[in-house]
Amino acid sequence: MVEVNGNFYNLKKNYLFVEIEKKVNEYVSKNPNADIIRLGIGDVTLPLCPVIIEAMHDAVDEMAKKETFKGYGPHEGYKFLREAIADYYKKYNVSISSDEIFVSDGAKSDVSGILDIFSSNGNVLIPDPAYPVYVDAAVMSGRNIVYINADESNNFLPLPDYNIEAGIIHLCSPNNPTGAVYSREQLKQWVDYAKKNKAVILFDAAYESFIEDENLPHSIFEIEGAKECAIEFCSFSKNAGFTGVRCGYAVVPKELEINGQSIRDLWARRQSTKFNGASYITQRAAFVALSNEGQEQINKSIEYYKENTKILSKVFSELGIWSIGGKNSPYLWIKCPNNMTSWEFFDYLLEKLNIVGTPGSGFGKNGEGFLRLSAFGSHESTAKAVERLKTIKF
Ligand code: PLP
Repeated sequence: MVEVNGNFYNLKKNYLFVEIEKKVNEYVSKNPNADIIRLGIGDVTLPLCPVIIEAMHDAVDEMAKKETFKGYGPHEGYKFLREAIADYYKKYNVSISSDEIFVSDGAKSDVSGILDIFSSNGNVLIPDPAYPVYVDAAVMSGRNIVYINADESNNFLPLPDYNIEAGIIHLCSPNNPTGAVYSREQLKQWVDYAKKNKAVILFDAAYESFIEDENLPHSIFEIEGAKECAIEFCSFSKNAGFTGVRCGYAVVPKELEINGQSIRDLWARRQSTKFNGASYITQRAAFVALSNEGQEQINKSIEYYKENTKILSKVFSELGIWSIGGKNSPYLWIKCPNNMTSWEFFDYLLEKLNIVGTPGSGFGKNGEGFLRLSAFGSHESTAKAVERLKTIKF
């Protein structure tokens, strides 16, 4: 007799964004003329930039000819892309070899799939609030989660607590949902802790391209000793607009070993079984995204999105409503006014201003009383949202 994986019963009933969508749909069905502005979900809205579109067209043409057609590619990604990613790291004085890079269909698959190669014994340390995938993936695989508080007392950047024992540590910087970014010194504390505890840091750098402060690290591997205790995940989703194209990568350093076992080799083994490679067309697109021309065009999109966080953050400051983030990330983390709960403020914005945000409580208990707004709307809709926000009166 077959039984279902009982761990699934321990998952929260609905994925956060499904719950939001349900609420918005209910509102729209009662108010069909409502002009809804969506500043909730972290999906991009700008189209792919010209150099990427051209590369994809060229790749399709290659697929159309017998001589240049490509079937299955290497499961770890084409060498041309892995070498370009290794080159990209040089910008941050990080030396990574192309065979430590594993191209994938995005960071979500990697940050959850990586758990396959670790025993389910031991604690998974997750900052609260966090990107929900870390929690759900740990729950699905029956792991014990230990939360560490990310709150106003530590500027939403928790540091290691040596009283807590952890095997796996999820860190995300720039952070989703708070927009907070770890400094080098803070990351060094995590690296020291991980080494002392023989733990592994799963470092999610999906938003690294949004960092504008030159003193902030883009990669955990900028920190001395990190290659012995960390794996990094990155994505082309938010910088190059690949949320629909799908491409990301994991960096698994050769130095990372557990009891003499190379973690890089285990991940290579796992990927060769469970993943058949990102498409050639996608990888060609990712390759040009890393070229000088690609970076120039991508940076324009990032700047475009950042304009949105600038005007949003200005209006909240004028309203006397506390917020952080936005500067080095595409997210603004807002303290709900008048002691409202996250869902109360969500309902207020939806019903009074027709603006959709993301309730902070959906990211963990410390998110209660906060709301996340994203930079990924258009200038027009964000400016319209700002005009509506100016009318807030409590
Ligand atoms: N990591 C974080 C922190 C995210 O916020 C997201 C998407 O929102 C992802 C990973 C997923 O990225 P991808 O589109 O590459 O799967």
